Amino acid sequence: MTFKELDLNANILRAVEELGFEKPSEIQEKAIPTLLTSERDLVGLAQTGTGKTAAFGLPLIQNIDTEFRAIQGLILCPTRELCMQITKELQAYAKYSEGVKIVAVYGGAAISDQIRQIKKGVNIIVGTPGRTIDLMERKVMKFDTVSTVVLDEADEMLNMGFKEDINRILKGTPAFKKTWLFSATMPKEVERIAKNYMDDPFTVTVGTKNSSAANIEHKYCLVKGRDQYHALRRFIDYSPEMFGIVFCRTRRETKEIADRLMADGCNADALHGDLSQAQRDSVMNKFRKRTLKVLVATDVAARGIDVDDVTHVFHVDLPDEIESYTHRSGRTARAGKSGVSIALVSPAKARRIKLVEKQIGKPLELVKAPSGQDICGMQLMKMIKNVHDVEVNEKGIAPFLAQIHEELKDFSKEDIIERFVSVEFNRFLKTYEKAGDINLEPSKSKDRPERDGGRNRRGDRDSEQNSKRVFINVGKIDGFENKGQLLGFLCNQSGIDGGSVGKIDLFDSFTFVGVEDGVGEKLINSMNGKNIENRDIRVEFSKDKLRNERGGGERRSTRSGSVNSSANRRSNDRGSREGGDRNFKERRKRR
Ligand code: AMP
Repeated sequence: MTFKELDLNANILRAVEELGFEKPSEIQEKAIPTLLTSERDLVGLAQTGTGKTAAFGLPLIQNIDTEFRAIQGLILCPTRELCMQITKELQAYAKYSEGVKIVAVYGGAAISDQIRQIKKGVNIIVGTPGRTIDLMERKVMKFDTVSTVVLDEADEMLNMGFKEDINRILKGTPAFKKTWLFSATMPKEVERIAKNYMDDPFTVTVGTKNSSAANIEHKYCLVKGRDQYHALRRFIDYSPEMFGIVFCRTRRETKEIADRLMADGCNADALHGDLSQAQRDSVMNKFRKRTLKVLVATDVAARGIDVDDVTHVFHVDLPDEIESYTHRSGRTARAGKSGVSIALVSPAKARRIKLVEKQIGKPLELVKAPSGQDICGMQLMKMIKNVHDVEVNEKGIAPFLAQIHEELKDFSKEDIIERFVSVEFNRFLKTYEKAGDINLEPSKSKDRPERDGGRNRRGDRDSEQNSKRVFINVGKIDGFENKGQLLGFLCNQSGIDGGSVGKIDLFDSFTFVGVEDGVGEKLINSMNGKNIENRDIRVEFSKDKLRNERGGGERRSTRSGSVNSSANRRSNDRGSREGGDRNFKERRKRR
């Protein structure tokens, strides 16, 4: 099928052709004809990278009536990065559609500029929920003329706590509007939005529900928490041509891993919520230009990354929220390319593999971290190939050749080969000469019995709770909006490694944390005696987890002013959900 057969107008066809799109992607083929002509709502189950922006963007632009100078399309998306990316794409699609005005509104940028642009006249608003509400409240924008609302990455918006904001925005739109909802996964909350706000929607699915792109190879490697970095480095060193993203669960881990990679000579940098917007832009620019080979990022910071040629995605342990696995791995294999997703799984997280497999609808292949010899061999052959293929600039080196010949005159050809190879290669030999096998055997791993049939009666998720768990009398009302924030706090305060922690159950006033051997003791020794908001922190091994979870735990009333408020979340519009430690410290300072 061609774009022309989709009934797109000549202006749009010209823009699409200029962008080099040869034929519609699957979601475009399935969605565009209906979106152009029908008044029905749509639920699109599609990952980023499938061409979904054009799937909603092209019909939205074509349906804009430029004679009517009012907002007709509203696109809500979770982060600043994604907001800018969608706007850029839409502006490219609308290049020849004269009069179609598209404005991006997002946090972390001067609101006055955005107000000025809106006042000049706009047909399509692309906004993050927080800034959109701000502008609604200032009465700069009204949505009573909106005929199409697009909720992009709806699952992520809900993950980030924008549910209330989305509800408020949707209430400001007219009943007759069409709603097009796109989501990579379909958790209950997204289904609820679809049910509440949509009228008999037609569904377009690319791949299977909650699945990832077909052209991603999903692999996992089982290593101890303390060997995760070494495994990561081995995979990176083994793939000289890789261009990848490493996902970590906390900002601290992100920084640590990026620092270690840099110290070990790898071209890496970190992207996380502690960076200023200018720093984030600078890191992203380097990654886009491929000055960086490896970007180490938290889940949230990496949302909206629109880099097409990522070959590898690594997970430094599986994410706490299984849906995040789909988002993470979707950063590779974009726009029809293929890619590899490798999860470096510690025994404490091994049980999550099953959940991931269920989520993506296919098995993860167990792979071993390459051995030192494999890596040296791979690097050596890469270097030899480079020497073989290099274009010699005879003119450029001519003035130096006589001196070079003189310096090397006593060496045989074999000597010279050995020495040239060693110049580049000694680094790898030195790193890996004593490198042993760091792989764990799944069959011997006490932490993965359910793959061998030993499933716990209560199912996969609960079987994780069989490992040791500690009870901590700290929870959401202390300002921890998510598990990552609490984990960051515990790591910072006690010096434990994020990878040595298993399942975290974060409740309002207390938390249970699954821990590896020795880690519980370390947490107990280092955290007891500390305090949070003038209250002693208490950590102990969980004795009766079920009773505790069902209400036996320490109860404290939810104080007003909890940071889990809509207004606070709004300040996170810049794509930084993981403001945990910082928010926590700031609040303590204020009190
Ligand atoms: P998206 O899923 O919207 O983030 O799109 C992923 C990438 O694919 C973007 O860089 C788009 O510009 C590109 N793209 C979208 N549609 C097509 C198409 N039909 N052919 C080639 N590339 C496309």
